[in-house]
Amino acid sequence: MTDKNKAITPETMLAQALGALDPAYRSVIPGIYPGTTYEREADGSYPTGRVYSRDHNPNYEQPEELLRTLEGGAKALLFSSGMSAALAVVQALRPGDHMIAPKVMYWSFRNWLLTVGKEWGLEISFVPNGDIAALEAAVIPGKTKLLWLETPANPTWVVDDIAEWARVAKEAGAHLAVDNTVATPLLTNPLKLGADIVMHSATKYLNGHTDVLAGALITAKEDDFWARVRVNRNAGGAIPGPFEAWLLLRGMRTLHLRVARASENAMAIARHFDGAKGIRAVLYPGLESHEGHKIAARQMTGGFGGMMSLCIDGGAEAAMAVAARLKLFKRATSLGGIESLVEHRASIEGEGTPCPPDLLRLSIGIESADDLINDIDQALEGRKS
Ligand SMILES: *Cc1c(COP(=O)(O)O)cnc(C)c1O
Repeated sequence: MTDKNKAITPETMLAQALGALDPAYRSVIPGIYPGTTYEREADGSYPTGRVYSRDHNPNYEQPEELLRTLEGGAKALLFSSGMSAALAVVQALRPGDHMIAPKVMYWSFRNWLLTVGKEWGLEISFVPNGDIAALEAAVIPGKTKLLWLETPANPTWVVDDIAEWARVAKEAGAHLAVDNTVATPLLTNPLKLGADIVMHSATKYLNGHTDVLAGALITAKEDDFWARVRVNRNAGGAIPGPFEAWLLLRGMRTLHLRVARASENAMAIARHFDGAKGIRAVLYPGLESHEGHKIAARQMTGGFGGMMSLCIDGGAEAAMAVAARLKLFKRATSLGGIESLVEHRASIEGEGTPCPPDLLRLSIGIESADDLINDIDQALEGRKS
């Protein structure tokens, strides 16, 4: 499949899901295969190569191949969630190994590292985002085995230089894994910048319709570390059901349209509210004023994504009140769907969060940008009454 797809753009790969037909009936859309086990021949062999659906369900293969091709990797694996994908990587380490992660990153994963990860015997250093000198200083020669990076990072959208992290990982003899959920394979391909593994919460942009929980990993090479990751998935059964995998593939067929529209909308909203009354700061990598804009402009191609945050004058209470007055934005966690969402992150993350208390995280959907701007405007204006 690799050569045939070389000249094809990601847009066409996505729209046609690589063009594969259902092998049984030549249906243009794949079937759903709920079977968990496969019959052996009388001689004991497995004619289809499939044994049991914990690792051999046909519904995983097309989305995996699509993701592998989009990210330019050697192999992709689907998982039951983004978290199970992330944990499969970390649990490929051995107790006593050292890993490094940024201070600002997806909260649930950071929490797991700080609690179970530490108890389980991992040594973990958190370094300030965007600080390569601090990253280099945190490396423990011979002991550091994994660098984990998220960029742009939740929920302040600070940007890190993937190529620089890859250089430090290489010098340390460690693997670099990058959470690429927010950028999607359309805006950033970490493997092409030197990363070893890419992780996605497929629950977000890849599926895009807020109705599937799934995750994915794509590796640059099938090395020993990857073999351990694979065992974690297959032995643990951390895989989506066939219907979820089917829905995910269906969602991915419009990824390019959704990401382009969400990026466009987010840019329009960021520009409209940058410096506006009632707003302390607009956090969006697409704004020239954003700290990581130069790096983002280099490593993100075709847009800056649909995630941004607004810091509201007057602190946490004022921010909560603005969120309460929004009409089109749904007050809910998660991101990357067709509908716009708003969340007061500090109150979700609780104690120890690096998230500013006046921050509202916005997941910008594919609605009309004007409608979304008007909604935020009326919510800000409501402050007077
Ligand atoms: C949601 C999310 C995750 C976790 O994924 P789930 O599918 O919810 O388990 C990890 N990283 C980022 C950046 C996310 O947004």
